[in-house]
Amino acid sequence: MSTARDLRPTWAEIDRGAFSRNVDSIARRLPRGSQLIAVLKGDAYGHGAVELAKLCTPDRVAMIATALLEESLELRRAGIELPLLVLGPLTESQIGIALDQRITMGVVGPEELELVCRVARARDVAIHLKLDTGMGRMGVTEAELPRVVEMIRSTPRLRVEALYTHFANADDSSDTLTDVQIEKFRAMSAALRAQRHHLANSAATMRGLIEPGDFVRVGIALFGAEVVGSRLDPVLRWRTEIMRLKDLPSGHGIGYGTTFHTLRPSRIATLPVGYADGYDRNLSNNAYVLVRGRRAPVVGRVSMDLLTIDVTDIPDARYGDEAILLGDEISVDELAKRAGTISYELFCRISKRVPRFYK
Ligand SMILES: *Cc1c(COP(=O)(O)O)cnc(C)c1O
Repeated sequence: MSTARDLRPTWAEIDRGAFSRNVDSIARRLPRGSQLIAVLKGDAYGHGAVELAKLCTPDRVAMIATALLEESLELRRAGIELPLLVLGPLTESQIGIALDQRITMGVVGPEELELVCRVARARDVAIHLKLDTGMGRMGVTEAELPRVVEMIRSTPRLRVEALYTHFANADDSSDTLTDVQIEKFRAMSAALRAQRHHLANSAATMRGLIEPGDFVRVGIALFGAEVVGSRLDPVLRWRTEIMRLKDLPSGHGIGYGTTFHTLRPSRIATLPVGYADGYDRNLSNNAYVLVRGRRAPVVGRVSMDLLTIDVTDIPDARYGDEAILLGDEISVDELAKRAGTISYELFCRISKRVPRFYK
């Protein structure tokens, strides 16, 4: 691990070993012929896409997917040689860039397909094509299918390598929409015929909703967040240090709006981290930080650059002690729930101001 004593004491440690084990664990549970597409969009859900992409070896990972072309370009520039897939929509000028950089487009609808077909008059183009099977967001709808089939038929240099769709509710096993989407995908893909299919996200993969030979697109599970009741190894540990420690009398207000008043003579520790770092303001008076292995409640409002915790019940707490915001006993799911959001967003919002170190 890099020594970071000349930096601010707030940083996130990314455990490469844990990420690799999670990749292994997912790859091993896939049925025969199926392969993993590692979804590393949003800078690998805040974990750092370049560093984690380097751990994706071709024996375990067939492709890396990003949302933006820029995210895939960053990986190419960093020397990542695995096939790359862009899941989000591309503009006309981005299509040529994607092709030049050997980045596969996950074409999201007839508008984009038309632009791609125009390019494919002059060169060979292989794409993945997205179908809307019920989410109503991206993908070709059933009504658009005949026109899309015709566009593909009349563009001989265009090859649809894979068809894919995305589940809206796969994390809820009681929701029948997932079955409806699978059925609809079967029906729609019969009209198009491609060598490969991919439907499953993390939740569907953990539930085993995978046909042999299908690829899966797994993101959140690779980072050790909870998915349909189970979780792999947590990868990210976010820590800081106590930079102010003071004793306050009973009845003393804390922070903006003085939303907390000490109910007893209290020892209050101030941490140099706040909502500008991605520590959600909704965690004001509503979360715990680990000090010496024990939970200290966040008291008062989270400020932009600071937050305060009550360490009265941790009498051995000292100036300079490590304070764990996320990691060990504090799971991303606990923190996300308290903040009124999901693990995905909580990870993504840990800001640039928090350096990531890889061990
Ligand atoms: C983000 C995303 C995924 C990965 O979803 P997880 O729930 O993180 O596994 C898969 N497919 C598409 C199209 C996505 O946008």
